[in-house]
Amino acid sequence: MKKHSIDTIATFAKRKGFIYPSSEIYGGFSAIYDYGPYGAELAQAIKQQWWKTMVQLRDDIVGLDSAIFMHPKIWEASGHVSGFSDPLTECRSCHNRFRVDHLLENIGQTADEKMSEDRINEIFDAHKEKITCPVCGKKDFTPVKKFNLLVKANLGNFTDDWNKDPVYLRGETCQGIYVNYKNVMDSMRVQIPFGIAQTGKAFRNEITARQFIFRTREFEQMEMQYFTAPNKEMEAYEWLKNYRWQSYLDMGISEKNLKWHKHENLVFYAKEAYDIEYQFPFGFKELEGVHARGNYDLTQHSTFSKKDLSYKDPQSGKSYIPHIVESSVGVGRIFLALLCEAYTEEDIEGEVRIVMKFPKHMAPIKVAVFPLLKNKPELVAKAKEIFDDVKTYTMCEFDDNGNVGKRYRRQDEIGTPYCITIDFNTLTDNTVTIRDRDSMQQQRIAITDIKQYLQQNIKTL
Ligand code: ATP
Repeated sequence: MKKHSIDTIATFAKRKGFIYPSSEIYGGFSAIYDYGPYGAELAQAIKQQWWKTMVQLRDDIVGLDSAIFMHPKIWEASGHVSGFSDPLTECRSCHNRFRVDHLLENIGQTADEKMSEDRINEIFDAHKEKITCPVCGKKDFTPVKKFNLLVKANLGNFTDDWNKDPVYLRGETCQGIYVNYKNVMDSMRVQIPFGIAQTGKAFRNEITARQFIFRTREFEQMEMQYFTAPNKEMEAYEWLKNYRWQSYLDMGISEKNLKWHKHENLVFYAKEAYDIEYQFPFGFKELEGVHARGNYDLTQHSTFSKKDLSYKDPQSGKSYIPHIVESSVGVGRIFLALLCEAYTEEDIEGEVRIVMKFPKHMAPIKVAVFPLLKNKPELVAKAKEIFDDVKTYTMCEFDDNGNVGKRYRRQDEIGTPYCITIDFNTLTDNTVTIRDRDSMQQQRIAITDIKQYLQQNIKTL
């Protein structure tokens, strides 16, 4: 199947109400995007499917919704204040900024996050001859500077000094999970092994802001942290890897567009780390991280907060700091993968049909209802009656604008799996036509069978 460019996808996403650039009437706002009406529906579907997989269907995982602002010490304990930084360089010719680890990656070299600024400068200098600016093609860069990604705010600061006791917009949602681990243990009937899952906004001062919604400065994360006994960590890790891989297949992503990427340079505390990568139009890139983190996170929070975060095993009576395996993904990354996966241009009798082939249960609108003719009040009334019923159980749209062929095309473009048309036969025999997005075949069914038909054909998990 033909791969479409990221520009084609972005232009289409804006034209059809999926993604708008932020603050557009003010000239835009770099690396921030808004979800339009159909985008908001698709993002909801992604979050619902994730929550169902990670919480509803699991007896051993509970949900959480922690606040975006937290005690600033949390970001010291986590290492973000001292170490959450990306290496930056600027092209002296076009003044675009780049992540040096990405420039090095392009020529097959690695620079990992633990390296000092000096060490990265050494590697960068050693390979400078081979590195060209991805925007203007020149080879003249400024020295590398490490840049902290945490976004500061002045919450609770009533002085004029912005930098006095800064608090941070959270850089990841999982810290809210770690610091609530004890609350969950004390208030819920959970025993190790168990997990805590949450979705929510995270903020990072990303240096490079290209590739549409792949890397944004405000984004929504979906993270699950699973607490285990030390000797059960790797068993839990194998389970989580398989479980997360399967969840992408259940979302309709084809396996050939997915692959595992193993981290070769692990941070000192990690046992093992893999990313699930998706083949975006700009190549295989990280969709989600699945990591075995040892007991680093709770140990750090225990040290910094001076609270005992150990767990006493009810069988052996022994205490230990739980180990953690995690799954972490951005809603926007799955959203972009689904757009790329679904976008299809077909040649239908010499005309291009754009159709979003979302899996039916992920489509923003599940059904559209049309009266055959807009100027026949009896058809419009019957169509409205059916629409008013269908919308009580699924996302539904009413359309009486233009001819039916045009209405089908409009629904194809947003990926609506089924269109129901009310015609003159409906008035006498109480049947409608129902048209399938992918086969474009129409079938007559009784009005009383519509709900069952949709339930059978739009299968959720
Ligand atoms: P990178 O090295 O690409 O900056 P990372 O490895 O630091 O990313 P993590 O901190 O592991 O990313 O984040 C976990 C997940 O959160 C990622 O797999 C991705 O799905 C999502 N994510 C991270 N940063 C962004 C961002 N700026 N925009 C959108 N999603 C993001």
